[in-house]
Amino acid sequence: MLMIPGPTPVPERVLLAMAKHTIGHRTADFSAIARDVTEGLQWLHQTQNDVLVVAASGTGAMEAGMINFLSGGDRILAGNNGKFGDRWVEMARAFGLEVEEVTAEWGKPLDPAEFKAKLDADPSIKAVIVTHSETSTGVTNDLETIAGYVKAHGALMIVDAVTSIGATNVPVDDWGLDVVASGSQKGYMMPPGLGFIAVSEKAWQAYDQATLPKFYFDLGVYRKNAKKDLTPFTPPVNLYFALQAALGMMRQEGLESIFARHLRLRNATRAAMVAIGLPLFAADEVASTAATAVLGTDSVDAAQVIKQCQSRFDMSLAGGQDHLKGKIFRMGHLGFMGDRDILTATAAIEAIARQLGQDFAPGAGVAAAAQILMG
Ligand SMILES: *Cc1c(COP(=O)(O)O)cnc(C)c1O
Repeated sequence: MLMIPGPTPVPERVLLAMAKHTIGHRTADFSAIARDVTEGLQWLHQTQNDVLVVAASGTGAMEAGMINFLSGGDRILAGNNGKFGDRWVEMARAFGLEVEEVTAEWGKPLDPAEFKAKLDADPSIKAVIVTHSETSTGVTNDLETIAGYVKAHGALMIVDAVTSIGATNVPVDDWGLDVVASGSQKGYMMPPGLGFIAVSEKAWQAYDQATLPKFYFDLGVYRKNAKKDLTPFTPPVNLYFALQAALGMMRQEGLESIFARHLRLRNATRAAMVAIGLPLFAADEVASTAATAVLGTDSVDAAQVIKQCQSRFDMSLAGGQDHLKGKIFRMGHLGFMGDRDILTATAAIEAIARQLGQDFAPGAGVAAAAQILMG
């Protein structure tokens, strides 16, 4: 049982879609699928922009989203309040960009006013990078407000939406997001292997000026091919089958329902942990709909919870990264997740916490989760 923030569980309909003979990618059959998934991706991103597909994990999608629109020495602002924010800073430096960071303590959100102040002070900033849902801490950053400042400034808004697309509202066109990267193993109800990048017209104008080297991830080539329902290189064909099936399921459920479901699962998870007496790492107002980070207590060692969940219940939880290693455990609740998953995971954690000596009324966690799920 996968209760981690990626990879996430894959529904049977998607698994079965993958279990078909691979077809050639330069065929009418494949092009029909490519056309269909492009439309589905635009629907999911709430955008008229191009949404391109690459064979990569989310990080590959982010790399494509960075190197296609910038040149060596460009000044960028990067939000950094967790492991993924850190990754983009490292990546930008690896490509020779001049990075200024906007930081917040892990577990706290980025302050949009800091972005505004830095943007106001420097008209030469080319791009701003923000991790919308910071999966390492379970914090959602205020992307809408930050994007508003970026738009007014004129820089490109580049977003890591890897655990937001398909888990929370990311209206790409309404918010004016120029580059939005995500990956298949998070909110898409798919196995790992596909990366997605939504690209605005403004970003394509930047593409024409951008000089960072690129080849496999040259998105201009993907765009040209996508216009003809083709891909430049051999795509993971069976993952396209999966994507088509997953998008079909998402369309059936509807965006509003998908977002409401994630909110409900998040709220139930948080209520359950509080009832068990385990402190939440992120505040209610900024809590991610994708993952919940939970602190250990004097009696409950976070690492023990993860270990015992695995050994006794065959259930995967995620640990903390960097300085949070051993201090928190993280529960994923995005993608193909329902009430049953939250109740099951809560019951397992509750059983472990009791055995470790945590003092709470037996069944309190499940009862708290159930109250929200049944409400
Ligand atoms: C999972 C994740 C990524 C991408 O990780 P990959 O392992 O490359 O797919 C990027 N950003 C966030 C916020 C994530 O949760």
